[in-house]
Amino acid sequence: MFGPVIGGSRPTGVSEGSLDFQLSDEQLHLKKTVREFAEREIAPNVMKWDEACEFPMATLKELGKLGLMGTIFAPEYNGAGMGYVEYVTAIDELSRVDGSVGIIVAAHTSLCSNHIYLVGSEAQKKAYVSKLATAEYIGAWGLTEPSSGSDAGSARMTAAKKRDGWVLNGTKTFCTNGHYADVLVVIAVTDRAAHTHGLSAFIVEKGTRGFRPGKKENKLGLRASDTAELIFEDCFIPKENLLGKEGDGFIDAMQVLDGGRISIAALSLGMAQGAYDAALKYSKERKQFGKAISDFQAIQWKLADMATEIDAARLLTMRAASMKDAGMKTTLESSMAKLYASEVAVKCANEGVQIHGGYGFIKDYPAEKFYRDVKLCTIGEGTSEIQRLVIARQLLKD
Ligand SMILES: Cc1cc2nc3c(=O)[nH]c(=O)nc-3n(C[C@H](O)[C@H](O)[C@H](O)COP(=O)(O)OP(=O)(O)OC[C@H]3O[C@@H](n4cnc5c(N)ncnc54)[C@H](O)[C@@H]3O)c2cc1C
Repeated sequence: MFGPVIGGSRPTGVSEGSLDFQLSDEQLHLKKTVREFAEREIAPNVMKWDEACEFPMATLKELGKLGLMGTIFAPEYNGAGMGYVEYVTAIDELSRVDGSVGIIVAAHTSLCSNHIYLVGSEAQKKAYVSKLATAEYIGAWGLTEPSSGSDAGSARMTAAKKRDGWVLNGTKTFCTNGHYADVLVVIAVTDRAAHTHGLSAFIVEKGTRGFRPGKKENKLGLRASDTAELIFEDCFIPKENLLGKEGDGFIDAMQVLDGGRISIAALSLGMAQGAYDAALKYSKERKQFGKAISDFQAIQWKLADMATEIDAARLLTMRAASMKDAGMKTTLESSMAKLYASEVAVKCANEGVQIHGGYGFIKDYPAEKFYRDVKLCTIGEGTSEIQRLVIARQLLKD
C-alpha cells in the first residue's frame, strides 16, 4: 500500500503514522502493465482520435477485459477489487499517453459507477455496476446544467413523482461520455423548497423514451472524449431507478466528487508526466549553439521545477487515495490534490511547449496536445476557485 495514512489504520502492518512512499510489487506490476498497454494500444492512435474527435470505444472494451473499467469495485460486481491507489496509478498511466482516455475512464468509474456502487440498492449494483465494471456498459454522470455549474445545488432539471415512477424534464450539459453511455446517473429537483436537500439522483438507461443526447461539444482539448448535452422531455423512468434516498442526491454527489477529484488529480498527474517526459527527451536531442539544449541552465531549471512539482502533486494525490482506501473522509485532501495537481499540470504543459520551442506549437510533437488537454483539469469537477473554497471551508470549520 502506498502512502502516508495519517492516524488511519494501515493494512500493511506498518506502524500507524509512518510514511511509506513506495508502491508495492503488485502496484508496480499494475503500473507497468498499464504503461505497456497505453504505449502499444493508445499511443499510435492519439492524434488520429484527437483530430477526428473519435471516441475510442474498442480500447475501452479492452480496458474492461483488463479490469481497468472497474478497478475500485468488489469482485462480486465484476470489479478488480483494488483500491484508489491502484485506480490513481491506472488513470495516471493512461493519461500520460492520452488524457482523453483518462477522463473517459475517470467519469465512467469514479462518477457514474461509483455513485451506484456507493448508494445503490443490491439490485442496482448487480444490474449496473456488474456491467459497467467490465465495460459491457459505458457510464456517464450528469450534474452540471447550462445555468448551474459551480453552483450545482441550483439545478433546475425536475423529477416529478408519477404513480409508479418519475417524470424527468430538463437539460444537463457538459456530460462526459453522454452520447456513448448505456447508463447515466443524473441529479434532478424533487422538492424545490428543500433546496439542496430536495435534489435526488436517478439512473437512466440509453434509449429510454423522452431522453436523448443533444449537442456534442467541439472542444479545445480532450477531443477524443465525448462531452454531451442531455435532453429530458417527459422522460418516464420506473420508481426503482431512484438512486439513493429521495432528497440525498446532492449530498451523495458531493461524496462522489470526493473520489472524483482524486481521479482528476490523477488525470492531471498523468498529463504533467507525459509533458515532462516529452520535454526531457526533446531537450537531450535538440541542439542549439553546438550543444544539447538540456545543457543550458535555463532549460535545466525548468525540468527541475517540473519534476519537483510533479512529485509533490503525486504525493498529495496518493495521500488522498490512501486515505480513501483506509475508509477516511477525504474532502480536504481530495481538493488539495486536485487543486495542486491540476495547476502543476497546466504549468508543466506550458513549460513543455516552451522547451520544444517552435516545434512545441506543431502537431508532430506531443507538447501541443498536452497544452490543450490539460486546461480542463483546473475546471472539471470543481474549478480551482471552488477547490480553494472547499479547502478553506474545511480549514475554518470548528
Ligand atoms: C470537458 C468537460 C467535461 C465535463 N464533464 C462533466 C461531467 O461528466 N458531468 C458533469 O456534471 N459536469 C461535467 N463538466 C462540467 C464542469 O464540472 C463545470 O464546467 C465546472 O464545474 C464549472 O462550471 P461552469 O462551467 O458552469 O462555470 P461557472 O460555475 O459558471 O464558473 C465560471 C467562473 O466563475 C468562477 N466562480 C464560480 N463561482 C465562484 C465562487 N463562489 N467563488 C469564486 N469563483 C467562482 C469559477 O471558478 C469560474 O472561474 C465538464 C466540463 C467540461 C468542460
